[in-house]
Amino acid sequence: MLRYGLGWKAADAVLITHLHLDHVIGLLGYLATLKRMGHDQPIPVRVPSGSAETLRLMLSSWGLRDAARISDSSEGPEEFHGGTVSTFEIAHADTPCCGYLFTLDGRWHLDTEALKAHGVPTGPCRRELAEGRPVVLSDGRAVLPEEVRGRYQPPMRVVFSGDSSSWEEVANRAGGADLLVGEATFLERDTELARRTGHLTAGELAYAARVAGVRWLIATHISQRHTAEEYLAELRAVFPASLVAEDGLRIALTQTGELVK
Ligand SMILES: [Zn+2]
Repeated sequence: MLRYGLGWKAADAVLITHLHLDHVIGLLGYLATLKRMGHDQPIPVRVPSGSAETLRLMLSSWGLRDAARISDSSEGPEEFHGGTVSTFEIAHADTPCCGYLFTLDGRWHLDTEALKAHGVPTGPCRRELAEGRPVVLSDGRAVLPEEVRGRYQPPMRVVFSGDSSSWEEVANRAGGADLLVGEATFLERDTELARRTGHLTAGELAYAARVAGVRWLIATHISQRHTAEEYLAELRAVFPASLVAEDGLRIALTQTGELVK
């Protein structure tokens, strides 16, 4: 977090897919650091159904019982700025595991020409109109949101599928998503190992993306035993709009559906 300029601030929430150590070890250090810095508000932490008690025990034994407010996936969707995040169960090895679906609400953009024509100044007025509320300008004229509406931005869906034993399940969950972020621990030549450990190969993940008809795919959880280029080649042979995640990767999905690094 320090390396990428995020600082040690408290996160709005932490979403955990499952309790295998490589997916939770960082949480302990993070909560311990916040506590040492005097942060005393619990961080909301979401885990798959059936894992809340185990995480509570883990945190207790590290003296961090009050550092997190743990909820599990049975508790339904949560609202966040401009959208919702919901949870779905997914099979992975022998442990409860879940993925997350982020849905950003659709919204209207403002039309610059219409704003000028109505004499709407920059600043808070424009935010009110963008959020669908009428405003009264300083000269007493009222402007309605419908009068300055531009293009409609449809809702956007991002699926984070977590570690997965089955590409079919990932494909079912990712149907029509704008972005799928999924795991590709192995390459095709290690399919046997992937089955034994409850993971996917790059080829399987790419196939799931193709079947689901997603717009973009980002592969994570890649192994150090192969290069990112090898993963990318296998992904793109099946699904060309693929990227391999790296530490600190930041991307933006534009209004027209482009992915910008
Ligand atoms: Zn795992």
